[in-house]
Amino acid sequence: MAEIKSIDGGAPSIVGAAYDITDHTYDVVVVGAGGAGLRAVVGCSEAGLRTACISKVFPTRSHTVAAQGGVAASLGNMGPDNWQWHMYDTVKGSDWLGDQDAIEYLVRNAPAAVYELEHWGVPFSRTEDGKIYQRPFGGMTTDFGRGPAAQRTCAAADRTGHAMLHTLYGAALRHQAEFFIEYFAIDLMMNEEGACVGVVALKMDDGTIHRFRSQKTILATGGYGRAYFSATSAHTCTGDGNAMVLRAGLPLQDMEFVQFHPSGIYGSGCLITEGARGEGGYLTNSEGERFMERYAPSAKDLASRDVVSRSMTMEIRAGRGVGKAKDHINLHLEHLDPAILHERLPGISESAKIFAGVDVTREPIPVIPTVHYNMGGIPTNFHGEVLTKKDGDPDAVVPGLMALGEAACVSVHGANRLGSNSLIDLVVFGRAAGLRCAETVVPGAPQRPLPANASDLALSRLDHFRNAKGGSRTAELRARMQNVMQSNCAVFRTGEVLEEGRGLINEVWKGTEDIAVTDRSLIWNSDLIETLEYDNLIAQAVVTMESAANRQESRGAHAREDFAERDDVNWMKHTLTWADDKARSVNIDYRPVHTYTMSNDIAYIEPKARVY
Ligand SMILES: Cc1cc2nc3c(=O)[nH]c(=O)nc-3n(C[C@H](O)[C@H](O)[C@H](O)COP(=O)(O)OP(=O)(O)OC[C@H]3O[C@@H](n4cnc5c(N)ncnc54)[C@H](O)[C@@H]3O)c2cc1C
Repeated sequence: MAEIKSIDGGAPSIVGAAYDITDHTYDVVVVGAGGAGLRAVVGCSEAGLRTACISKVFPTRSHTVAAQGGVAASLGNMGPDNWQWHMYDTVKGSDWLGDQDAIEYLVRNAPAAVYELEHWGVPFSRTEDGKIYQRPFGGMTTDFGRGPAAQRTCAAADRTGHAMLHTLYGAALRHQAEFFIEYFAIDLMMNEEGACVGVVALKMDDGTIHRFRSQKTILATGGYGRAYFSATSAHTCTGDGNAMVLRAGLPLQDMEFVQFHPSGIYGSGCLITEGARGEGGYLTNSEGERFMERYAPSAKDLASRDVVSRSMTMEIRAGRGVGKAKDHINLHLEHLDPAILHERLPGISESAKIFAGVDVTREPIPVIPTVHYNMGGIPTNFHGEVLTKKDGDPDAVVPGLMALGEAACVSVHGANRLGSNSLIDLVVFGRAAGLRCAETVVPGAPQRPLPANASDLALSRLDHFRNAKGGSRTAELRARMQNVMQSNCAVFRTGEVLEEGRGLINEVWKGTEDIAVTDRSLIWNSDLIETLEYDNLIAQAVVTMESAANRQESRGAHAREDFAERDDVNWMKHTLTWADDKARSVNIDYRPVHTYTMSNDIAYIEPKARVY
């Protein structure tokens, strides 16, 4: 058998020697070409760093393309607004689990990030006098929650993500970055000191293996919504970067916080943007009652997503759901002017027609809370540097590794993300990562030594699954995982349901040893890719369930019937989870929440009871 020669001396490795391997060297490698990855690519290339971007799908097919409602920034185009109010809302939305230094960084840099997008060509909707149009979104208020709803969400009709992603891809192409499209990143390469030295990827159209050495590796691989049965996210949202981090022996943070969006179309899970309620839409139960007035007398249908999703679930449980099975809720837009619907909500009018057979100008849309966003992910600071807990330091930086976007947990969204705060997170922290790389990476500087066995983990895993001859098909295991998550780790949680969920999800995890892959080829082997993605999902499903069972309080999206109150004394802390997929075991520890701001311009916002 041939050997993989060591680049920097040391013993050669024979793992994966049967594969055709190409080595690449870059200053920075970005994995992911969604909004976060592309913004980082622009920044790093502008700084004169040799930058590669790897993506498993064509960049403009990343899930960012599906974002509808808009991107939050306190431009104040439609009424008074400022970053301090945006900060207050984001802290409150996070239910005081967000790190306030990072939140300050986000909201202060938000307006500049939106103007940058405008200058690069994003076709924002406009006001009469030509300014960027802004709509109200859930949880966005004025005057520290005392004033009326803020119109803070900048929109390009209801296709904001589409406009942003195409513009960002254009901006990235204007620079010298090199794209590796339809390459599937398998695992990180780490050295003995625990630094990241690059990543290993499979070129999906010819089966060749590519080892990317880099001074910095940036994971911008998106969320893992597909661990659940009903999700608004694309089938590609399998959290591959998160799982690579777990396999590298590093922790994920706050994985129990999974956001359900109130309005997924019943049956298909396809999203109806919160912008629909922002434009005046409202929800009713089987009695035709606008029930949100009871649960959130002030914010009503524009209360934050966790509140609306729970209220809908409570109505359904009380027998007031609509439809034959009384298992969903109606969303009304038919009272709105058809011209407004056409101008501001054309995309969702089309989705309602295609996925629910509904003409929104005449009938309500059947909707149900659907998995939408992962607040948890790879812990980072506000420069995008990945953190771990080491030798008692809860903020120890992992050398060579960064993370951004939905994959990361900065944490600005804490226990619950406000609508339109993700798109702004992508560009603000994408830019921050570029700035950090410009500061810390010298173009063309010598790389850290690459151990000969650096690619062993990736290649042995690839080989293992390609030749897996067990009795359980990937699709069966995936369906079992998705059903357990949907029924045992959803909007309402109890100790009993979560305990049962732990048993069931760990069984599926162990069942992975019996997986069957039938296609042994290396050219467009979707059976193999889906298996690698499933293996990534199941590790995240397990840590999500374990973290949820462990957290004995209710906060943001994590609502426990047996611990109904938020408990700041014992639980105002981030959960960290490590998973060992050989021993099939999970370890839990904590990091303190940053209870300080970034500058002296604003004081730490003290926790308050939640009133709506
Ligand atoms: C339907 C929908 C509507 C939304 N609407 C809004 C909204 O209006 N406002 C808002 O603020 N937020 C919204 N969100 C949330 C927001 O869009 C996402 O959180 C955000 O776009 C995620 O961006 P990202 O760059 O982190 O990842 P993504 O856009 O998901 O991109 C991930 C990238 O990683 C790559 N990748 C992943 N794994 C691998 C691998 N193994 N190898 C190589 N490449 C890999 C993919 O190819 C892709 O390029 C919405 C989400 C959904 C699902």
